[in-house]
Amino acid sequence: MSKNQALFERAQRVIPGGVNSPVRAFRAVGGTPRFITRGDGAYIFDAEGQRYIDYIGSWGPMILGHGHPAVLEAVTKAAQEGFSFGAPTEREIELAEEILKLVPSMEQVRLVSSGTEATMSAIRLARGATGRSKFIKFEGCYHGHTDALLVKAGSGLATFGHPTSAGVPAEVAQHTLVLEFNHLAQLEEAFALHGKELACVIIEPIAGNMNFVRTQTAYMKRLRELCTEHGALLVMDEVMTGFRVGLHSAQGHYASLIPGFKPDISVFGKVIGGGMPLAAFGASRDIMKHLAPLGGVYQAGTLSGNPVATACGLATLREIQKPGFFEDLSAKTRRLVDGLAAVAKDNGVPFSVDCQGGMFGFFLMDQLPQEYQTVMTTDKERFNRFFHAMLDAGVYLAPALYEAGFVSAAHSEADIQATLDAARQALR
Ligand SMILES: *Cc1c(COP(=O)(O)O)cnc(C)c1O
Repeated sequence: MSKNQALFERAQRVIPGGVNSPVRAFRAVGGTPRFITRGDGAYIFDAEGQRYIDYIGSWGPMILGHGHPAVLEAVTKAAQEGFSFGAPTEREIELAEEILKLVPSMEQVRLVSSGTEATMSAIRLARGATGRSKFIKFEGCYHGHTDALLVKAGSGLATFGHPTSAGVPAEVAQHTLVLEFNHLAQLEEAFALHGKELACVIIEPIAGNMNFVRTQTAYMKRLRELCTEHGALLVMDEVMTGFRVGLHSAQGHYASLIPGFKPDISVFGKVIGGGMPLAAFGASRDIMKHLAPLGGVYQAGTLSGNPVATACGLATLREIQKPGFFEDLSAKTRRLVDGLAAVAKDNGVPFSVDCQGGMFGFFLMDQLPQEYQTVMTTDKERFNRFFHAMLDAGVYLAPALYEAGFVSAAHSEADIQATLDAARQALR
């Protein structure tokens, strides 16, 4: 038995499914998950000493690669000063100031420890601020594992949803309206029927939990208009896209396409913690005043704004603001996806690609899908064969066809080339 297999067996005895987050178990692609012992730059190493070029980057946070010296130094220093105090620290102000400087739609921000916590709190805030209960989410968008967000579409258009997880009472899902992504007529209908009862609409601007699907610009524009007309808040879940697709995140990208565009509430995670447990949600002062201790919307956390996590996040955010950072990252990511598309074309494999900043997606189909159902028509067997062939060649892609990929600043041209060489073999 290999060392990874032995660890997986041992893990399954004491941890359900052997993992602390389901997708790590490789259930979608089959095979044995690799137990990682360390990371270095663009690489991770497993328990057998095998090296992989890492295109997951902890599902997004590791935008600088593993063990960036400036981040390591900041974290080491913070750890020596103390792990947690349960009292305010100056570093929380610094991180809040840094985030607000880069995200002009927000005037205040609250720090929490995970994306799930941040989206859950954002929904509560939207409900508290509007005094309304219902909200819209989209099929294929993931916003963490909060009860009211683990909901799939109901049976008809603009009907309320059903839980996707056991343990979520139907009553908890009954205020969640689930719509098809990028489907304008459905959106219009939902607002016509329920607009005045909607607290908010929550959306992943570039959906990274169904691989990589952009909100169409016209759709985003209309969504913003409908929210404003009906007094519903637009909640942009940038946990994945935040500081990953560009310095001003996905909302900055849409603001460059739609004059005056901004969300009402924004949610961040992943990159802002640089690999440490840290997330945030923020909005205008007018909305944030509803939050405790100022207002009646309760929200709290023992480890919120943790001194070591904030040090890690701050150091990461400072690095990504250096001149040319996103230009380099974007160009590299573009070279990777264009190269993959070219290799696929040479081999007659249907393939489409997209990317923004350091985030990318590829589909084993001729055209980029625009919503979840089409994403899920991907040839799963072919994807799984490709995934395992790449893994065997030392390239670590996300172990499911509905996940996005991530390039870091540490990936070199040689890493990209090695990846394309592996893909050429794998697609042959
Ligand atoms: C990862 C993710 C979350 C959940 O964040 P966790 O830190 O895993 O709880 C929420 N929304 C989006 C868009 C995400 O990608």
